[in-house]
Amino acid sequence: MSFLDISHLEKSFGSNRVVKDFNLAVEKGEFISLLGPSGCGKTTVLRMVAGFESPSTGVIRIGGVDVVGTRPNQRNIGMVFQAYALFPNMTVAQNVGFGLKIKGAGRDEITARVAEMLKLIGLPDKGAAYPFQLSGGQQQRVALARALAPKPQVLLLDEPLSALDAKVRVSLRTEIRAIQRELGITTIFVTHDQEEALSISDRIVVMNGGIADQVGTPFEIYNRPTTRFVAQFVGQLNTFSAEVLDGPAGRVSVAGVPVTLPVAVAGARVDLAARPEAVRLGRGAGDDVVLPATVREVHFLGSVIRITAEIAGGRVALDTFNRPDAPPPVIGAAVELSLAARDLIPL
Ligand code: ADP
Ligand code: MG
Repeated sequence: MSFLDISHLEKSFGSNRVVKDFNLAVEKGEFISLLGPSGCGKTTVLRMVAGFESPSTGVIRIGGVDVVGTRPNQRNIGMVFQAYALFPNMTVAQNVGFGLKIKGAGRDEITARVAEMLKLIGLPDKGAAYPFQLSGGQQQRVALARALAPKPQVLLLDEPLSALDAKVRVSLRTEIRAIQRELGITTIFVTHDQEEALSISDRIVVMNGGIADQVGTPFEIYNRPTTRFVAQFVGQLNTFSAEVLDGPAGRVSVAGVPVTLPVAVAGARVDLAARPEAVRLGRGAGDDVVLPATVREVHFLGSVIRITAEIAGGRVALDTFNRPDAPPPVIGAAVELSLAARDLIPL
């Protein structure tokens, strides 16, 4: 059995079913993200794991023990919220030591643990400061230290970075992941930001309308989405309509070119998706689909250049790496785009 086991979890508020047959098995030390749009039930799942909300039905086991029915403070869980929920009238040290004090730890133990935690989050000298004297990023690091100080067996993070500005958000997510790895603590991280989830998770649960649509590694979620929702929510996507041909399943015609898809498809027509980096400017070796196109937009992003081109029946975004010896095409240029059938994702 997994360390944290959630099975057939459901939650309704009145007649509103906000979590539907949610299943998840988390291994000890794993970093799992719940990813989905606002209102899809992420916080509700987290609050049920923490014990702030009771499930309508379902089982939550931590370390083999069913915790449904036990109070939050008996679950040994650490939680960090989006808004800095620090106690404003307490110093940083008092905030970090709060959970230990509640547990009845002695003063020396608290002092030692607080120092250890402040060192862990890179704020060893801020113990005497008050929350208002800290930046947003520092406050969230203190909130993390406060959650970790009592040595919880599970860490729950509910959009802990969304109130921070972009640069701090990126550096702090890397830091959170490093601390999580160092402690080996089992973690569930909630976010609506797909890039954030892709960059730091061992596995991602993509949620849609209270349902876990797909569970997989970032690589699997991005490259082999199993539902149209996952394909469209995670990453950029180009779509092509293809005609399904007679013969082996997976044989289709894209822009008049017969190709074999990596998976079987049925029906008369199918929508196919291709990530921007799967589309090449010019003909790549081994590419089976070649489309004439006109360049409409060129965005020089630094290491990557994103080009939008018009093909018969729509627009295609493609990414190429910057090469100092090859300037990007000009707007209005007639070009060929190409892609390999194995990179096409049926929707
Ligand atoms: P997310 O965190 O993904 O944005 P939530 O779990 O907060 O989503 O909410 C999921 C749905 O449940 C929303 O429609 C929300 O309005 C509803 N909801 C959440 N908490 C309550 C509550 N205490 N009472 C009634 N409805 C709620
Ligand atoms: Mg939420």
